[in-house]
Amino acid sequence: MKWVMNLTHIRIFEKLVLLAAVLCLAACLAGAIASEEEMENAITADDSWNTLMEGNARFVSGEVASKDFPERRTELVSGQSPFVTVVTCSDSRVPPELIFDQGLGDIFVIRVAGNVMDPVVLGSVEYGAEHLHTPLLVILGHQSCGAVKAATEGGAEGNIESIMTEIEPAVEIARETNKTGSDLVEEAIDENVELVIKNILDRSPITKEMVEEGKLAILGAKYSLETGEVAVLAEVDSTNVAKMMTEEEEKVATSGSEEIPATMIPEDIIPEGTEPKSAIPEDIIPEGSEPESAIPKDIIPEEETSDAPIGDSLNE
Ligand SMILES: [Zn+2]
Repeated sequence: MKWVMNLTHIRIFEKLVLLAAVLCLAACLAGAIASEEEMENAITADDSWNTLMEGNARFVSGEVASKDFPERRTELVSGQSPFVTVVTCSDSRVPPELIFDQGLGDIFVIRVAGNVMDPVVLGSVEYGAEHLHTPLLVILGHQSCGAVKAATEGGAEGNIESIMTEIEPAVEIARETNKTGSDLVEEAIDENVELVIKNILDRSPITKEMVEEGKLAILGAKYSLETGEVAVLAEVDSTNVAKMMTEEEEKVATSGSEEIPATMIPEDIIPEGTEPKSAIPEDIIPEGSEPESAIPKDIIPEEETSDAPIGDSLNE
């Protein structure tokens, strides 16, 4: 009898454990769904841009917000939830965190001379948009960009040539205006920003889909070295993405320039005997594949999948 009693107790215990497990799983799933919705709804592209512009106004006036770096640093140990992805030039005069007066953990920054796109840069764009859920992607060119100026002059050497190759189609479009000198450079800087946006949409099905679904907006902008102000050049969202693509394609076609996809870096810039092709993954974005597969999971630190809602940085 004692043995039977024990067995009964064990069975009751097992049922309780099972019930607890089911309840826990249900609670976890509900929490996950809630936090996902929270993440997607926490901040819009407009909110994101307004925050940047408010910061830029503070930067221009010289009255920047005070920042408690040690405290913020501690808060961010468990994960990041930046509210915007910014692609800009490596130029030392254009640091996004300073010109938009933002702090640690606010901006997912990608910097490369001439703010051009290649598969590696594009991978970072996808990481910011798809994995970190930033609702806005800003492509920020700047006045007197040396990379664009070099592309108007030609004759670059070494690996800089690959940057020129990306910018040249924009220069060709700019030449259609018959502008010369610094006017041509400024025109090419503007065209380069717009062409970079088109290239992102052309080369990244993941990003394009996010824009079409209204999960991401892309904004082209230009920073003035003189005034410190940022002006909008182009806005792309679900309402005008198709129109923008068509217009840019027409511009490229009429300028006579031939766009060279980043996946086809000219062989003549690759010194013989080296094996650089392997460094350019041609299949980084398999067409029609699930977005997840394009982002290697092992580059995503576990803590970054935290449930911290986007906009934490805004709610301070
Ligand atoms: Zn530059």
